[in-house]
Amino acid sequence: MNNIAANIAAIKSQLPEEVTLVAVSKTKPVSDLLLAYEAGQRAFGENKVQEMTEKAQQLPDDIQWHMIGHLQTNKVKYIAPFVHLIHSVDSLKLLREIDKEGKKNGRVIACLLQMHIASEESKFGMDFNELKELLESREFVEMHNISINGLMGMASFTDDESKVREEFRELSNMFHTVKSHYFRFNSAFRELSMGMSGDYGIAVEEGSTMIRTGSSIFGGR
Ligand SMILES: *Cc1c(COP(=O)(O)O)cnc(C)c1O
Repeated sequence: MNNIAANIAAIKSQLPEEVTLVAVSKTKPVSDLLLAYEAGQRAFGENKVQEMTEKAQQLPDDIQWHMIGHLQTNKVKYIAPFVHLIHSVDSLKLLREIDKEGKKNGRVIACLLQMHIASEESKFGMDFNELKELLESREFVEMHNISINGLMGMASFTDDESKVREEFRELSNMFHTVKSHYFRFNSAFRELSMGMSGDYGIAVEEGSTMIRTGSSIFGGR
């Protein structure tokens, strides 16, 4: 077994069966993705539109492409025909564009709303009030070519495990609150995307349904 296949097997052996492993392949060559593919991996995460579209053209059609990085409105059109799940939706403006491109492509595009849970400053991710405002906007209710499938978040970059756990727990609580208030009868709203190479064990303990690991599969970047 090559390293990549072995790493995937090792991570999977620690994951509950219902947790999805998204292999974050950003900056890695197509040959590395192919090794993961041959080991049975189908969900791949990229953070740049151009890199994702170029790789998608060179790799098998049954790969599920996950956009995990900040997405600019003017680039949505390039991934709208094929993207499987956009994890990084953090504004009504972006959602509006995804809905528009979904319509053009005859698709309902699955999205996660990215929440800001880390203590570090970041331009990305919403707080709870922004999330509420989005979900309660008249415009949101009228979008038919997007599906909100859950929430995504990133914990602080720190060795302090209790802090990371606290942040994941906060996101998990938010997920359950949002589910019960806005998506109780919507079975599509069920994903909680949290956990990376350094913290996915804690994330899974705190209720993650989808982890995004790169370096623990493909090595450092
Ligand atoms: C790069 C990245 C990951 C994967 O990080 P690793 O530490 O390599 O596992 C996960 N999520 C997002 C949003 C990323 O940008």
